[in-house]
Amino acid sequence: MRLFQKHFCAIAISLWAASPSNAQLLVEPTLHIKAEAGGGRVALTLDACGGRTDTRILSALVENKIPATIFVTGIWLKHNATAVEIMRAHPELFELENHGGRHVPAVDTPQKIYGIRSAGSPEAVLAEVESGAAALAVTGEPAPKWFRGATAEYSPSAIAMIRKLGFKIAGFSINGDGGSLLGAKETARRIAAAKDGDVIIAHINQPTHAAGEGVVQGLLALKAKGLTFVRLDDADGIGDEGTTD
Ligand SMILES: [Zn+2]
Repeated sequence: MRLFQKHFCAIAISLWAASPSNAQLLVEPTLHIKAEAGGGRVALTLDACGGRTDTRILSALVENKIPATIFVTGIWLKHNATAVEIMRAHPELFELENHGGRHVPAVDTPQKIYGIRSAGSPEAVLAEVESGAAALAVTGEPAPKWFRGATAEYSPSAIAMIRKLGFKIAGFSINGDGGSLLGAKETARRIAAAKDGDVIIAHINQPTHAAGEGVVQGLLALKAKGLTFVRLDDADGIGDEGTTD
């Protein structure tokens, strides 16, 4: 009985901690690209949240001529000049888009998502989006048209705000690497299962994680099956939750 009480108490506390009164219900939007007659097209999106560059993935993309949309933060841009140079040297492969200035979730009420503190106010969401775009402008890249917030979760009011700033919001339909925490085998399996119209999300900023090896294997399997890759700017993206229309 005592054990039960203790356990119940812990559950009650964790429920309470997870739902402060001002927390909004968050959404994790999906994104597909319009299917083409006879086509087998997928869009590969890779997040560069912070940290370093997974050169296993970057080299494989260049060697196999696989185009990708890279969502970069201001923090990542600052510390990965060599990778940015390689991406900019291959404009036919890489499209750089906005993943925010400081990698804080685009949620305009104070809460934590996967342990990361949200922007917490409309002003802070605005600052995150605009500082991400400003950091990209410094690299000489074309102005970003897509935004993906840290954790890929949003409050509906933040979505409306980001759309007003002129950005489409990049959801996804296949979570390729589970935040870069999955093993190589499972990552490869998920990515290799992509079908016409899918938008894959994975990470290019965790060179020490096993998932990166799986990303490469999964992409090569898709290529071997005859699927082609497009960037978000080269396809019609259709998202839910008001993210693209
Ligand atoms: Zn991220």
